Formats: sequence, C-alpha cells, structure tokens
Amino acid sequence: MAVILVTGGAGFIGSHLVEYLLGQGHQVLSLDNYFTGSKENLQHLRHDPRLELIRHDIVNPIMLEVEQIYHLACPASPVHYQYNPVKTIKTNVMGTLNMLGLAKRVRARILLASTSEIYGDPKVHPQTEDYWGNVNCLGPRSCYDEGKRVAETLMMDYHRQNRVDIRIARIFNTYGPKMAINDGRVISNFIVQALTGQEITIYGEGRQTRSFCYVSDLVRGLAALMNCEDFHEPVNLGNPEEYTIVELAQKIIAMTGSSSRLSFHPLPADDPVKRRPDITRARQLLNWQPTVPLEDGLRHTIPYFTEKLKQQSHVLAANPAL
Ligand code: NAD
Ligand code: UDP
Repeated sequence: MAVILVTGGAGFIGSHLVEYLLGQGHQVLSLDNYFTGSKENLQHLRHDPRLELIRHDIVNPIMLEVEQIYHLACPASPVHYQYNPVKTIKTNVMGTLNMLGLAKRVRARILLASTSEIYGDPKVHPQTEDYWGNVNCLGPRSCYDEGKRVAETLMMDYHRQNRVDIRIARIFNTYGPKMAINDGRVISNFIVQALTGQEITIYGEGRQTRSFCYVSDLVRGLAALMNCEDFHEPVNLGNPEEYTIVELAQKIIAMTGSSSRLSFHPLPADDPVKRRPDITRARQLLNWQPTVPLEDGLRHTIPYFTEKLKQQSHVLAANPAL
C-alpha cells in the first residue's frame, strides 16, 4: 500500500478522494489551507490512524516523503476563485511548481486536477483532448483558466525536462454531497434555493449547457488515471449527459417539490455557451465511464443539503446575533 498526498484534501472532491484511498488501504496525507475546504468534510475519518491532516498553503514549498500526489488544491467555484484572483494564479502556478518540485525530489507520480475550463468557451463540441481551447486571457475567469493552463504546461515541462511521472485529468463539472452551501456553483445554488423557497437564479437565458458528473464516478476516474501505466497526455473525466441550465433548474424544482420560481440575471462574462466532454480516451485507456445518471446523483445530493440547512438553522436559532 502506498503513501499518498492529496492537496486540497479537505475540499469537495478531495475529501471524497481521501475516503476512497483510505478504503483502498493506503496511508493518506491531506494538505489544505482550508480556504474553501473544511475539516468537517473529513470529520468521519478522524479516527483512522492512516490519515494525517496538514494545514499548509501550497504557495509555500513543503518537504514530505510520498509515493503519489493527487494535486487538487485550488478554489474551483467562480465566486471563490475570483475572490482573490492573484492568489488563484499563485496557487495554480507557484503551488503546482512546488508540488512538481516535491514529485521530482521524491520520485512520486503526480496527477493534476485540471479542468474543462482550459477549453474556455469552446468552438469544438463535444470537447476532445486535442482541442486547444478558446480562452480569454484578460477576463475575470482567466486567473483560473489560464492558471490551470500554465499548471498543465508546468506538468508537461517537468515531464519532458526532468522525467517526472505525470497524469493530467481534465475534470468537467462535478457535484455531490460535501459541496459547501455557499459554494456558488450551479447545482449547490439551485438545490439550496429550491429547498429554502428562494428564487432560482438563472444566469443569462439559461440556454447554456453543462454536463454533470457525480463525484463517486469522478473519484474512480482519478484513481484509474493515476494508476494507469505510462500515459502522460491529458484525459477528460466527466459525464457526457448534457443539460441546459433551465432544464437543470426544472429537474431540481421537481425533485425537491419546491414552489420556487425562476429569476433571470445577467450572464457572467466569458461564461461558456456549451460544454460536454468527449470521453473516448478515458473509455479506451482506463476502461472508465460514469455510471450515475443526473437524477440518481441529485437523489443522493439533495438530502445532504437538507441536512446541512437544518444544522445551519439550529445554529442560527441558538445564536440570534449571527
Ligand atoms: P474545492 O474548492 O471544494 O476544493 C479545493 C480545496 O483546495 C479546498 O479544500 C481549499 O481549501 C484548498 N486550497 C485552495 N487553495 C489552496 C492553497 N493555496 N493551499 C492549500 N490548499 C488550498 O473544489 P473542488 O470542487 O473539490 O475542486 C478540487 C479540484 O478539482 C480543483 O483543483 C478544481 O480546479 C478541480 N476541478 C473541479 C471541478 C468541479 O466541478 N468540482 C471541475 C474541474 C476541475
Ligand atoms: N449558473 C446559474 N445560476 C447560478 C449559478 C450558475 O445560472 O446560480 C450558471 C453559470 O452561469 C454557468 C452554469 O450555471 O453557465 C455553471 O456554472 P458553475 O459556476 O456551476 O460552473 P462553471 O461555469 O464553472 O461551469
């Protein structure tokens, strides 16, 4: 069994990955600065002696002895990555440099959690890995999109120059339990709005599309990619089922039995019009494909938010000053 570092281990995807790796019998170091992640996400694993939590910001170097590195640390929701865009760039560039330096020193295999955002507002549909993308380098999303593009470049250059054993996962929109209530991404926003009877905030006309992958499918894909032999090109991981944002809203309203209405708001700058992964490469290379359809994934996710909201209302009732 291996010693594995997960950066961003207290985040949404990271905490599911940590749980999966412990379940496979590995020893896991979770490294996180708790900007968007929380110890609560790992609370149920706290008695496992094979898990170690390290508070650290990856912008600073760190020395550890590990065999594999899943490099996930980076805020993923536009609300959070735009809160301090310069820090987002530092996390992607300096953070990835530090993790690659570590991988090089200890000869660890390193997997980067890259993103479908590197395709920008894509002109090719569905997106294949050989598409170079259509990204605005000056807009409000650029700190994340260009940050991840540089992170991919760094990975490839460390591979070519220093023979670091790299894997690059291009992750498409992923959802599930343990997303933060204030995460700001579409699925968490819509479920919270539907459950609390608030208006469902549709940006633009809601005709833009996304393809939503349930987190357990994604985690299986990340592990399969990490453990495949000798493949250093990027691999798309996502669910090719494609929905418009209005379709998603209607589905969530129906599944929560909510009386919420739709309200329409300006579309954020550079919001991609269409997004759907071509997962031929993942199918062939990893024998991987998603197994959880959107409705099933939402059926697991809605009760999680119901519970979270209950906990929050208890806290608010107990602390009227909040
Ligand atoms: P998240 O925000 O829940 O998790 C990110 C984690 O990284 C958090 O725990 C945060 O505290 C930590 N972090 C941020 N900056 C850090 C720093 N400088 N040092 C140490 N820790 C830091 O997001 P997520 O959805 O779990 O995403 C995880 C990774 O997957 C990210 O790299 C993201 O870009 C990528 N990704 C996610 C999605 C998605 O739909 N969830 C899609 C594409 C790519
Ligand atoms: N979106 C929306 N209402 C919200 C949050 C998001 O209509 O309350 C839209 C957003 O404009 C985008 C899509 O939903 O077109 C997915 O947004 P998210 O932030 O989840 O992910 P990303 O834009 O990074 O794919």
